[in-house]
Amino acid sequence: MDSSQGLPGFTLVGLPDNAVRESRERVVSAVRSIGKVVTGFRTTVNLSPADLRKEGSALDLPLAIGMLVSTEEIQVEQLERYVFVGELSLDGLLKPVRGVLSIAMSLSAERDCILVIPRGNVQEASLVEGLRFVCADSLRECVEILERNSSQDVNIAKGISSYGANVADGIPDFRNVVGMDGVKRALEIAAAGAHNFLLIGSPGAGKTLCAKCLPGILPEMTEQEILETTRIHSCARRSGDSDEFKPVMARPFRSPHHSASMVSLVGGGTRLLPGEASLAHNGVLFLDELPEFNRSVLEALREPMEDGKISVSRASGTVVWPARFMMGAAMNPCPCGYSMDPKRECTCLPEARKRYREKVSGPLLDRIDIQVSVPPVDASLFAVRGEGETSAGIRRRVCAARDIQRERFGNLPFKSNAEMTSEYARKFAGMTADVERFAVNAASKMDLSARGYFRLLKVARTIADLRGASAVDIMDLSEALRYRAFRG
Ligand SMILES: [Zn+2]
Repeated sequence: MDSSQGLPGFTLVGLPDNAVRESRERVVSAVRSIGKVVTGFRTTVNLSPADLRKEGSALDLPLAIGMLVSTEEIQVEQLERYVFVGELSLDGLLKPVRGVLSIAMSLSAERDCILVIPRGNVQEASLVEGLRFVCADSLRECVEILERNSSQDVNIAKGISSYGANVADGIPDFRNVVGMDGVKRALEIAAAGAHNFLLIGSPGAGKTLCAKCLPGILPEMTEQEILETTRIHSCARRSGDSDEFKPVMARPFRSPHHSASMVSLVGGGTRLLPGEASLAHNGVLFLDELPEFNRSVLEALREPMEDGKISVSRASGTVVWPARFMMGAAMNPCPCGYSMDPKRECTCLPEARKRYREKVSGPLLDRIDIQVSVPPVDASLFAVRGEGETSAGIRRRVCAARDIQRERFGNLPFKSNAEMTSEYARKFAGMTADVERFAVNAASKMDLSARGYFRLLKVARTIADLRGASAVDIMDLSEALRYRAFRG
């Protein structure tokens, strides 16, 4: 930044976007509001690197401080220690901005550095253990703190543990799901082996409720996972969001509507926000009414399902967001929804039924290990409340099965049965010759593809892990064969 005598003015160079360009007005007005005179100068600000587009209002505070320092209105010792971020209002108040957690995480290794943020962003900075930060409500307060240069103003972040127990707010408990034991069992297996799943059943059969319970039986998030997921949610915050920022302590459950656009699902757009798939990172992405989704939108999910990340390319470069989620989906068996219902008549023509199922592409289906039909619930069971096993109880078995997998895989590049390659799926099944013959016969009777066969082995492996068995047996395979409701 350069301020010199001459024709008064304020110029920003280095690809600022509109929000950054408008910061000129906010900054000049905010600086004036604290009684500093900077108008007689000609100020040029170079935003480096010049070829990277600068976006948003977070640069207001650094611009204001830069202007005050370069016109010698204020003196700051060791200015280079500070990193400033924050939006200014015209009257000099500091407003929170999105993405502060990302900035805080990137600074965590720099021990001398002090992050200066709006008070509204304190929660995010506090998550990064050991980070040194200063917060202020206004430009005036910020200037006072800088001039005082006292270590008493510097906070040291305590990290995630200061948020106490890992509470899973708002996740329904399986205890309240009655009469759906088959579906619960299928979801327990899905959770234990990190398998993607598809629920097929009549409208109102409880598919969505069951799926919503899923985060409650997955292992608790590690601190690293909490940071990763919260960081994405921090970037997705809208500037108008009044909700107090909270770290994402429980595995997310994201359920975008079937009309969701490509941008809202995978991210991007003019403001370059992460999409639902990234917001589901370390949690569950649930697609209700799967055949109603736009096909190209579903195809875009194949990248994150394979690599656990999403890259969005734009003229100015490529952005990569993490997106490692368990995918769940639900669909009716036919357009009217009742072809599997014993009490109601399906009104669909066979051709319409076939077309409906074909909307779900083969490659996507290939990545869904567990496909289960959800029978309509007997209405008399609704009178029974709170009788089922709790999610906490199911979670204990899931965690035990995950521990077995972690130990088995050691240094191999996968953590769960769902990630195994075909070669390892066969190796780790540990089947005797008889059991393997049974598996091959069953697969050929059901007309499974080679890929389908290995999916069968992976699911059977998870079932065996849940009962703590070292080898897959015929019972495990028979159960795994039941989770092929869509095909065969
Ligand atoms: Zn029908």
